[in-house]
Amino acid sequence: MSGSPPIQLRPPRRPKPPRHLADLDVAGRRAAVAELGEPGYRADQVSRHYFGRLADDPATMTDLPAASRDLLAGALLPTLLTPVRHVDCDGGRTRKTVWRAFDGTLVESVLMVYPDRVTMCVSSQAGCGMNCPFCATGQMGLTRNLSAAEIVEQVVSASRWLRAGEIPGAGPRVDNIVFMGMGEPLANYRAVLGAVRRLTDAPPAGLGISRRSVTVSTVGLVPAMRRLTDEGLPVTLAVSLHAPDDELRDELVPVNQRWPVAEVLDAAWDYAERTGRRVSVEYAMIRDVNDQAFRADLLGELLRDRLVHVNLIPLNPTPGSRWTASDPAVEREFVHRLEAHGVTVTVRDTRGREVDGACGQLATTTASGG
Ligand code: SAH
Repeated sequence: MSGSPPIQLRPPRRPKPPRHLADLDVAGRRAAVAELGEPGYRADQVSRHYFGRLADDPATMTDLPAASRDLLAGALLPTLLTPVRHVDCDGGRTRKTVWRAFDGTLVESVLMVYPDRVTMCVSSQAGCGMNCPFCATGQMGLTRNLSAAEIVEQVVSASRWLRAGEIPGAGPRVDNIVFMGMGEPLANYRAVLGAVRRLTDAPPAGLGISRRSVTVSTVGLVPAMRRLTDEGLPVTLAVSLHAPDDELRDELVPVNQRWPVAEVLDAAWDYAERTGRRVSVEYAMIRDVNDQAFRADLLGELLRDRLVHVNLIPLNPTPGSRWTASDPAVEREFVHRLEAHGVTVTVRDTRGREVDGACGQLATTTASGG
């Protein structure tokens, strides 16, 4: 698209967010505490407050000597994200939040309550460098990477709302995490992996969410997919395919020009084999662009007999876009053809469309005063 930024695999240089407990592994926390002249075990105490009690107010940390509380909380629990706006919709079962970071950067998250689980959709970057033309965040360009703690804080904040009973009908904790907010998680590999570990490590090291309940979604950055494979973590990998052929995918997911469909799927199958986890293929249904019967068949051929599940996402049209969602009959035919190839398919629900919160739109309208 003319005027849109090129692909940015590396973020521009910006001041880093302040260091936070959730940026550090257990050894790093002990070292940080020792640097402050405190005994190492204080790191575990602070971790229990933050990951176990979800607390960051030093006044409540009564097992710490009064003199140490402010020192430790000041050094390890700085405020990273402040909510600017909440939008509750779907009868209170969906809460979208725009957060302001220390440098004024805006990011968003979405909490979704289902009958059997609570899912939190987090951002991994402010903006995104992948420039996919149908995605609102893609149009913003990349501002910066979020730190591990900025990612974790989105979940910790949501966990506090749940624990306080602020979200009607929801259980007491976040069950699932999806890296499907703003940003390309695998372009911010270190921080995302750190966040995954903090979210899934058992308390007091982390929040204790099941690794199998974490989904990392990628445009298909093949080297990073391979690196993730080597971690041997049983998180779910989602690949945003959106087209089975390079000609169309080069346009819809421009980084395809670097790592084409065959390479992305090869890396996905290796991931499935190594982890035993079914890979999720994301496919936004865009009317008359990628929803033709021949593309369904092509996709079915590529995915046949693989450990894979297809998630069709009705396109959420972004402001000013020439594209719209597929006709329901066309969508049904697409599903039918994939199933005829033995591929399992679901059509994603479209939580929160009415407040244009999906896929970067909420932060975009907040930034422009909308
Ligand atoms: N960068 C990661 C995570 C981003 S968003 C990735 O691309 O996978 C999660 C999913 O929402 C991706 O599959 C993305 O392509 C899709 N998406 C983005 N904008 C959309 C829109 N307007 N309508 C439907 N799906 C969209």
